[in-house]
Amino acid sequence: AKRQGRNTWQWFRQQRKQTTSEHILLRHDLYTALHENQLELYYQPIVDAVTGRIRSLEALVRWHHPEHGMISPGIFIPIAEQTGQIIPLGRWVLRQACEHLADMRAKGERVFPVAINISALQFHRDGFLSEVQAILEETGLPPELLELEMTESILMDDAERAVERINALRGMSIAIAIDDFGTGFSSLGYLRDLPIHKIKLDRSFIRDILTSANSAALVQGIITMAHHMGLLVVAEGVEEREQQETLIGWKSDMLQGYLFARPMPWSELRSLPGLLPAP
Ligand code: C2E
Ligand code: CA
Ligand code: CA
Ligand code: CA
Repeated sequence: AKRQGRNTWQWFRQQRKQTTSEHILLRHDLYTALHENQLELYYQPIVDAVTGRIRSLEALVRWHHPEHGMISPGIFIPIAEQTGQIIPLGRWVLRQACEHLADMRAKGERVFPVAINISALQFHRDGFLSEVQAILEETGLPPELLELEMTESILMDDAERAVERINALRGMSIAIAIDDFGTGFSSLGYLRDLPIHKIKLDRSFIRDILTSANSAALVQGIITMAHHMGLLVVAEGVEEREQQETLIGWKSDMLQGYLFARPMPWSELRSLPGLLPAP
């Protein structure tokens, strides 16, 4: 279980042992959450590996539950995917992040590209592309400031449609990152054909690079391969200085993790030293 969500997670597990009614309750509550402003977007900086300067942000949704406190997206996103609530939730996330950035830009403040997590269901739904287009138009955000993070699972559902949509997004100047790279079961062949611009190395690999020769080999190999293909690499879950140094040695482009910053509310992000003022 994730650190922040431990209490909630235990609560959830205990409840689940008894009955599925709590699960149903959470489903119902998620509907309320969407309509009563219980969701909040947090942002985590992604930094240049060598200089530590912020290069982009990842938007990560949070749920302030009136009774159970903060519930981790690791718990409610899978439920939202099962119930289809990921569709309105995902739309809210996209719009909220674009509004935040557009607002910052309008005030003449310095902005960074923001990465949004997109679920497979959301990606494959009819109208996804026009929805993205509409939100960009309504908020006036340049598409170059938007990046979409997706896992390899989007290729499992309908690879042909996935390729078409990724090409279309690229045509709209929206960047695509493959999230949790290496944890799925899809073949690597897709990297050859898709206009992806970045891969994100999962935290489970980064955690072991100092202690496991196999993890070290895997991470080094993936970085080398990615660079030969002209892709950028982000290492996730960097918590220790030695991990940073090792990853710099292996030429990882960007790093993300508690060593640099935890996900934080928008208000806090805007007052981070080094982030403001405008250039
Ligand atoms: P993810 O996309 O792989 O996001 C990275 C997760 O790692 C985040 O967990 C982040 O808080 C956490 N993290 C970052 N640095 C560190 C570190 O140094 N150490 C550790 N232990 N953890 C670190 P979070 O925010 O709990 O999100 C969990 C997952 O929920 C995300 O994994 C993503 O799959 C999903 N998620 C979050 N927000 C959204 C969203 O808006 N839409 C969709 N579809 N999924 C989302
Ligand atoms: Ca992500
Ligand atoms: Ca990830
Ligand atoms: Ca993950």
